[in-house]
Amino acid sequence: MKEVKKNAVKRRNIRLHPNWPLREGQVKGPDLKELEYEIRKDIRKKHHTSNKFVIQIVILFLLICIFVGLHLIIPKIELNGEEKIEISYHDTYVEQGATAKYFQQDLTDRIEITSAVDTNKIGTYEVIYKVNYSFYTVKKKRIVEVVDKEKPTITLEGDTEVNICPNSEFKEIGYQAIDEYDGDITEKVKIKKEKDRWIYSVKDSSGNTASISRILHEKDEEAPTITLKGNQTMYLGLEEDFKEPGYTASDNCSGDITEKVSVTGEVKSGQEGTYILTYQVSDDSGNIATVERKVTVAKKTDPNSGEIKKGAIYLTFDDGPSNVTTGAILDILKEEGVKATFFVTNNGPDYLIQRMYDEGHTVGLHTASHNYAEVYASVDNYFRDLNSVSNRVKKLTGQTSKIVRFPGGSSNTISKRYSQGIMTQLSQELFNRGYRYYDWNIDSGDAYNAKTKEAVYQNVTSNLSKNRANIVLMHDIKTWTRDALRDIIRYGKENGYTFERIDMDTHMVRQKINN
Ligand code: ZN
Repeated sequence: MKEVKKNAVKRRNIRLHPNWPLREGQVKGPDLKELEYEIRKDIRKKHHTSNKFVIQIVILFLLICIFVGLHLIIPKIELNGEEKIEISYHDTYVEQGATAKYFQQDLTDRIEITSAVDTNKIGTYEVIYKVNYSFYTVKKKRIVEVVDKEKPTITLEGDTEVNICPNSEFKEIGYQAIDEYDGDITEKVKIKKEKDRWIYSVKDSSGNTASISRILHEKDEEAPTITLKGNQTMYLGLEEDFKEPGYTASDNCSGDITEKVSVTGEVKSGQEGTYILTYQVSDDSGNIATVERKVTVAKKTDPNSGEIKKGAIYLTFDDGPSNVTTGAILDILKEEGVKATFFVTNNGPDYLIQRMYDEGHTVGLHTASHNYAEVYASVDNYFRDLNSVSNRVKKLTGQTSKIVRFPGGSSNTISKRYSQGIMTQLSQELFNRGYRYYDWNIDSGDAYNAKTKEAVYQNVTSNLSKNRANIVLMHDIKTWTRDALRDIIRYGKENGYTFERIDMDTHMVRQKINN
């Protein structure tokens, strides 16, 4: 108490000075009772303050306990697999699921999964796992990132290695860039030129890059081209002079190099023979082109030339030889001592053609295939086909035959289907090449309406005339022709006709060309 009092006095003194209210002229001495009161009041106040602080601490502690408690007793969700997944665009998102527990109780069946994952679209998606249990709702989420990791593809048109002309610029041929996610991104392709290559690169919207190179070799491996004016095979009459029809030469790198062409060989005009002219040119890289022209100088056929033997019968047989009938026909001709003309094809056995020749008949050419669509498709086709049968005859007889009959005759109209005007061209071209062609002025009809020996006999004998050369169309592949032949020959002999074979001096019987 002594100690307290002392303090109180001290305090009091402090309080008295300078704020203690004094009345004028009055000096108040220390009052103990009042002092004690003040001290008690002071002590109470101090106690009260420290109580309040303790209560606050306790409340805080309780709150923490409740919080921790609550956390321990709510249901828990555990994800299967990672909380963050990355999958490729267009791949399938496979839900791995989750498990949920409340103490020992399994709540997995109660998990509701909400997923917005769209693997067709790049982006970040959430998958929500939710469990409702009693008055708790617990959620957990998984992050799914759909990404494009696929590189775009660049495709080059043309080769990836190309030759370009020396000292020239490569001219782009074309390219395309396709990205699985972005589609056509050709416009984004950047081209970088490096020493011997062009590098094409592209980046898709996800930053995946691709690049491809085109390697350029500065070299010219392509030969120039020589184009001949006029025909590659020419026919000149004996009286004609050869005049070079001209030519041009061009090169992929050197351009027009006509002036560099050298021509070797010589055509001796007026001198029969076949001459070869060789045209040669080299480009700046040393590639050489060579072309030949064949010029045949020969007597051209004069369509009006030849002898007309009035009262002569020219028996002509087309479409053979045939191993069924041609042999018997040759036998009859031999027995009757008559010479005839055969226009052969590539059909039948070789020995019959040899027999025709050996027994003094004329072997003429009818075309190898006798196929209208083939032989009348073009002038080149016709002569290719004609040369084929010509080679056969030359091989079997040792002679080149220049005596021809057109399949269907020169007046046929079927050829129109395959090439308009071809008969006019072919007849002229045959003359240019020194051939003679023969139609007929008596048709035995054995190929269509006369299918008996009597009918064939009738058609032939009733049309014979003493005032002309009678060229009779027959086919040695027909049995009724074979059977009518001896009687026709006898009729001719009995009625003062002679029998002749066609040769290069026989006047041509030609029908009117209808195409
Ligand atoms: Zn025929």
